[in-house]
Amino acid sequence: MKHLDISEAVKNADLRGHTAVVCGWVRTYRESAAVSFLELSDGSSFPRLQVVVDKSSLALDAECTKLGASVVVRGTLVAAYKGEGNELNAESVTLLGACPAEYPIQKKRTTLDYLRTIPHLRLRTNTFQAVFRVRSVAAQAVHRYFHERGFYYVNTPLITASDCEGAGEMFRVTTRPWNAAAKSEEEYYKNDFFGVKAGLSVSGQLEGEVAAMALGKIYTFGPSFRAENSNTTRHLAEFWHIEPEVAFAELPDVIELAEDLLKYLIKAVMAECPAELKFFDSFVEKGLLQKLANVANSEFAVLTYDDAIKELEKHNAGFRFPVHWGSDLQSEHEKYITETLFGRPVFVINYPKEIKSFYMKQNADGKTVAATDLLVPGIGEIIGGSEREADYAKLVAAMDERKMDKAAYKQYLDLRTFGSVPHGGFGLGFERFVMYVTGMENIRDVTLFPRSVKNIM
Ligand code: ATP
Ligand code: MN
Repeated sequence: MKHLDISEAVKNADLRGHTAVVCGWVRTYRESAAVSFLELSDGSSFPRLQVVVDKSSLALDAECTKLGASVVVRGTLVAAYKGEGNELNAESVTLLGACPAEYPIQKKRTTLDYLRTIPHLRLRTNTFQAVFRVRSVAAQAVHRYFHERGFYYVNTPLITASDCEGAGEMFRVTTRPWNAAAKSEEEYYKNDFFGVKAGLSVSGQLEGEVAAMALGKIYTFGPSFRAENSNTTRHLAEFWHIEPEVAFAELPDVIELAEDLLKYLIKAVMAECPAELKFFDSFVEKGLLQKLANVANSEFAVLTYDDAIKELEKHNAGFRFPVHWGSDLQSEHEKYITETLFGRPVFVINYPKEIKSFYMKQNADGKTVAATDLLVPGIGEIIGGSEREADYAKLVAAMDERKMDKAAYKQYLDLRTFGSVPHGGFGLGFERFVMYVTGMENIRDVTLFPRSVKNIM
């Protein structure tokens, strides 16, 4: 269908006096004695197009006036009678699809909880349209950022036989029906599709390292799967993961990249989605615009795990899980650090090796690893990264301590045999970023069809 996007029809002053055809869904209808007004939305922008129907020359089909109905309108664009932009004087209004009164998206504001029960329709609300426009702009900005800096975009496998030790529970990939008669796990999987136990990847990092050891700077941007058995507002079973991996890089380089990327993405969304951010600032998170402007121009803090624990211990009485050196940081601690102590994003560095993954570079103190989590107010962890252990013997020792099957990591160990170099990278959860820039508080509301425990609508 040849037609003009409403974003263009509304704002382009050069089109005044010209005939235009627009398509959209009816958002409001009202009439006065002489004219009727339809407001149309087609998803291309916030501002809707006001269609003006002169009752004396055009009789509207009643179906075209109902909330949610889809129509095609031909007419002449003119300067809006009130306010800025254009409106359309209709010559014809044709119904594409009627919309009965039981349409679940009514004009009154409905709750996000309710909208989660109708994921196929909730995108028709202003909130969700704004979220998904921001999400799209942010995704494009991710690719632009890396492309402009010489990173290669690689696609790591989603089906994998390794489990990126420690990153989370894996979903199994199998074609076999359940067979309780199998003598052992190994025998059971021998007859399975791959001949071994396989699952959905929790991270592209291990393969990303393979690529970085040849291409230098790479990133992946794709789905990761985690059988998270927790029902939080920050975890999904399927999420999108941005994972750069850089050769000839140490922990400070990883931190610099993470901070630069985050600021770039925030600035891109601020520049390209001003109307959406203003909307979120008014209706979702008061002060959002100020927060983003501050973050884009501030230095992120860096705090060692040692110092973080010292600070947190002073407030142990207020935590559900009191901390001591060696504790993993829970969400309440992460929030305390970034919201109460700093009021801005904080990189926590040098965690105890026992609570982090085998592949992280062991520091000279023998106790900690060169890992970092970036914590941000309102969300907690948004990025997890590290310098990787590049020393063969130390990596093997870390695997032995964890009783890992070294044969399964032959390729990964080979990277430390053949021209090993210092390198590192991180994982940024894309949905957590979208939550951060929109102020949306539940990860299920920044994902088209969220998957989580007992939920696959
Ligand atoms: P968390 O402690 O929040 O569970 P994690 O330490 O398991 O996260 P990493 O393995 O470091 O996470 O993954 C890197 C990033 O991926 C995280 O910082 C987060 O932004 C994102 N992420 C991890 N798990 C999930 C999930 N289940 N849903 C959405 N995003 C996730
Ligand atoms: Mn992490």
